[in-house]
Amino acid sequence: MTVHAKPPIRREAMRIAGRQVTTDEVVEVFNPYTNEVVGTVPAARPEHVREAFAKARAYKPRLTRYERQQILLRTADILRDRKEEFARLITAESGLCWKDSLYEAGRAYDVYSFAGQLCIKDDGEIYSCDISPQGKQRKIFTQRMPLMGVISAITPFNHPLNMVSHKLAPAIATNNRVVLKPTELTPLTALALADVLYEAGLPPEMLSVVTGNPGTMGDSMITDPDADLITFTGSVRVGKYIAEKAGYRRIVLELGGNDPLIVMEDADLDKAAELAVQGATKNSGQRCTAVKRILCVDSVADAFSKLVVEKARKLKCGDPMDPTVDVGTVIHEGAAKLFERRVQDAVALGAEILHGAPRQGALFPPTVVDRAPYDCELVHEETFGPVIPIIRVPNDIDSVIRISNSTAYGLSSGVCTNRMDYVARFVNELDVGTVNVWEVPGYRIEMSPFGGIKDSGLGYKEGVVEAMKSFTNVRTWSMPWP
Ligand code: NAD
Repeated sequence: MTVHAKPPIRREAMRIAGRQVTTDEVVEVFNPYTNEVVGTVPAARPEHVREAFAKARAYKPRLTRYERQQILLRTADILRDRKEEFARLITAESGLCWKDSLYEAGRAYDVYSFAGQLCIKDDGEIYSCDISPQGKQRKIFTQRMPLMGVISAITPFNHPLNMVSHKLAPAIATNNRVVLKPTELTPLTALALADVLYEAGLPPEMLSVVTGNPGTMGDSMITDPDADLITFTGSVRVGKYIAEKAGYRRIVLELGGNDPLIVMEDADLDKAAELAVQGATKNSGQRCTAVKRILCVDSVADAFSKLVVEKARKLKCGDPMDPTVDVGTVIHEGAAKLFERRVQDAVALGAEILHGAPRQGALFPPTVVDRAPYDCELVHEETFGPVIPIIRVPNDIDSVIRISNSTAYGLSSGVCTNRMDYVARFVNELDVGTVNVWEVPGYRIEMSPFGGIKDSGLGYKEGVVEAMKSFTNVRTWSMPWP
């Protein structure tokens, strides 16, 4: 059973300071499952981006904390009330299954709700100065100021609503103006979100959404003279390009991951297998923090892989609009073909496929690959799809840590063990941003700090609290104080 009948094609405009702007040239947005066009968006030229930044710069936000809170909480409420509408749009343009899309809408609710609750809190500090022989009878106060210029936000396809929300909510909470460029693959959700924010009372000058091909207008997002900060979530390749191009600007880069789930000999294998399968396949395996490598110690690997296969078999892969489906498509057929090729290459190097089914277009069914060599492309590179690769590792923690740290990435990790000595070593020695004991690497709440090291990220972390810091400058002021 599918959720609803085919929706009409959305012929969208950009939103430049709230004004709807169209262009003759458009970018088509495809449903990865049906290959049908679900919408079109304008192909912005550099002058559109310039206009958006200039309009934003010319506007000085003066919203009180209370007003910002009201806008954010109203947005959360609207998203909750319209979660099915958003889920439908996310599924249509990304191929993520209905369950994943509904979950995403729920997460976005949290982002706005937390930002709304946090923005009324004053995080200023006070330093008394009469504290040393050099001291004076003064006090220094801190306060956070919005950026002088505009935030340039560039977002990926894998969470069409939530990644955008992680940029916009903290920006609104801190009285900043944003020009957003959502990915050309899933821009429709971002445009619908902009309308919700305007409806919730956001002054339109505080948010513009420009759409189009990054080859034409990407550089303008990075080098616009009014762009003070670039917040980017996406691939390492583009992130490093931005880092080179951005010049004297603050950058926040949240990049790819290759997260391990580590299974030690004392682990409850059933529980570990559940985490492995869920972590590798939720969101069609397209989470920066998806389980992309399962490192299982040799002594329990036979028993563990059997349980993984059992659980993977239960997943239903198919029409993303079917509410009983667990795994929809990946973003396009090209991506599915790449994963298929990487699996075959791993097999040529000695890996074994324990479970899988033939690819159909962009539908890449969950595939359990055992005995994957730790340095084969499938697991050494980021494979952004529902592959469940098991790497058998020697029964000693030194080897586990060495192999885990052997990729260029350092985003997150999950570890399955009850031994505190192991936990302490993993927390101290895995080169990652997060270690989750008995959870998938992707576990977090929307306000906790989140982000990677090495190739996985540069600059501030994300999560509402950290993002609000990154979007502000600390000003100190002082006065005599007896
Ligand atoms: P991508 O890098 O291809 O695209 C991301 C964005 O960059 C898109 O909006 C795209 O249009 C834009 N872009 C591309 N070239 C550009 C250029 N030259 N100038 C300016 N903008 C340009 O990434 P993707 O394929 O959309 O997303 C998947 C990647 O994102 C994966 O690697 C995933 O791990 C990563 N990701 C990371 C996090 C995190 O928080 N660390 C979260 C989600 C996704």
